[in-house]
Parts: sequence; structure tokens; C-alpha cells
Amino acid sequence: MSQASRTRPSGSSTALNEAYDTALLDLDGVVYAGGHAIVHAVESLGEARDGGMHLAYVTNNALRPPTAVAEHLTELGVPAEPADVITSAQAVARLMADQLPAGARVLVVGGEGLRVALRERGLVPVESADDEPAAVAQGYGGPDMTWGRFAEAAYAIARGVPWFASNTDLTIPSARGIAPGNGAAVEVVRIATGAEPQVAGKPLPPMHRETVLRTGAERPLVVGDRLDTDIEGAFNGGVDSLLVLTGVTDAAQLVAAEPKHRPTYVDADLRGLLTGQPEVVRAGDGFGCGGWTASVRGGDLVLEGDGDVLDGLRALCGAAWSYAGDGSCRLDAGKAVARLGL
Ligand SMILES: [Mg+2]
Repeated sequence: MSQASRTRPSGSSTALNEAYDTALLDLDGVVYAGGHAIVHAVESLGEARDGGMHLAYVTNNALRPPTAVAEHLTELGVPAEPADVITSAQAVARLMADQLPAGARVLVVGGEGLRVALRERGLVPVESADDEPAAVAQGYGGPDMTWGRFAEAAYAIARGVPWFASNTDLTIPSARGIAPGNGAAVEVVRIATGAEPQVAGKPLPPMHRETVLRTGAERPLVVGDRLDTDIEGAFNGGVDSLLVLTGVTDAAQLVAAEPKHRPTYVDADLRGLLTGQPEVVRAGDGFGCGGWTASVRGGDLVLEGDGDVLDGLRALCGAAWSYAGDGSCRLDAGKAVARLGL
């Protein structure tokens, strides 16, 4: 079934860690949150790796270089090498190197991860618009980024220098709440200049290309918590995806998802890597999965049956996605989702 026509989650008779050679795992909301490992992540990833699955970590966060991310993962109990980490800084650096002469100067508005990635591609980071940069690279700079950096970008862009952004996530989760992300910083420069950046990060193709080039994955499975970055990125790359409910997406949002935001599979957490997935099948005027049947009756999403709540959610997705076709399901899923306790 092509991705564009997905009207229900797919089944898999084999465990996902055997059906796919490489897991392309998002980090925040999937492996960790606010510095702590997410429940079941450490042991599930260990078991998947022991079973022969290659694990790679794919993040839109351009602040930290892969060495720092790999160290953090290893400390959490998820052993990782720098080569297992792919960042949007690496994706934007490759995008820029494809368009700029070797050794070109690049004005950096961002953190160490961006500088390391640019040097790796033979580009030379500079700090001022007066350093005659050939391009501007903007990535998340963390809480210490000062307003003057945005001014520097604006000066260079006003002189006609091309502008690149690692990613445009508007927000970034922190231990104290939701903070402005690189997308918010990009908006500041956009408003000041009227210019448009070229963007590399999820869900755009440069990030997926970077990931496949670095991992050599032949049958990758994207694993993420966000519909508009992880799942849409997999859709754009034409590869399968697993949504886990440990991050920002809740069950009602999944039920309402438009086609490009519909994952191949859904599970509660990373234990889903180690199991197959039950089929969602046509059942009467609706869709069944496990002990549940979901249908649209009189403009309502109706869920009947019992059993594994994830099966109930899969059945609901079948009913809602089929009903919505190429759009987003506007029916209220609240009652059905509440019945599942999700
Ligand atoms: Mg995430």
C-alpha cells in the first residue's frame, strides 16, 4: 500500500526489530525527556540492538555535536557512538557544501554542533557579517544566544548572502517547560529581513537524505513522537514509521491525522520495537483490531469491545482515517479515546 493511500495502521506478523534493519530514532519524547530516559526505552533499545537491529538517533536539535549526544545517551544506559547520531546541523552543512565553494566562510548563528558540522564539510565558520561570509547558517543556540547574533544574520542577509536554517521547530521542550526553538529564532530574522531560508531538518528531504547516507539503512523504520516532523519526514522519504505515545502526540491527535501525518504503526512506547503489530481489518461497517471495533455512525466515532487499548486505538484510526480520506478527521474522538484511557 502506498503511503498516500494509508487509511489504517499496518499489521506486521514479525517483530519490527526483525522486519527492519535500522531504527531511525528521534530523541526527545522517544528516548529521553528533560534529561531522563523514557520508561521502557533503555531495555527495549538494548534488546533490539542485541537482536541485530542497527540503532541510529536522528535529532533536529543542532546545538550539541554528535559526540555530546552520544555521551549523554551512553550515560542514560543507551550505549551510542558519535557515528550513530545524525543532527540537523549535519544535514544543513551538507546542503550548504553542495551549493558553496570549498572553504567558503559561513556566518554561524547557533551553537557548537553547527560549527563542528560545517568544519566537517570543509566550510569555515565566522562570527561577523563583516567577515565576508558566503552564507548564513542558523541553528538552535540554547539559552545563551544573544539578540546581537540575530542582528548579525540580518546584516549579512541584507547584503544578499544566502540564508540556511538547520530546522524550524518553533518550540523545544526543557525541564521547566516549553521554550522557543530554532523556528522561533528563524522567525525573528525572517521578520527583520523579509528573506526565506533553505531548511534542512525533519520533515524535509535533506535530513532524511543525511540519515540514509550516514547509516546505510536499506530497510529503515522511523521512530518518533511528533506527527509534523518525524512521521511527515518518513512520509516524505517514502519509508515506514512507528509513532510512540511517550512524547507530544496524544491519541486524539493521531486519530485526526491527515495522510502525511499517519504512521505505519503505533505503540505506547519503545517496547513496540520488539513485537509485531495486529492487523486492522474491515468489520461490518467499521474496522476491527484485537477485541475492538470502531465505526462512524450518525456523525460520531463509535468504539465497541474490549482488550488491549492500543488495539482499540488502531481500530479507531482505521475508522477515522478511512472516513477522512485525503483530509483530516474532524469527528470528535474524545469519548472513544477516553474509553481507552488514552
Ligand atoms: Mg521528539
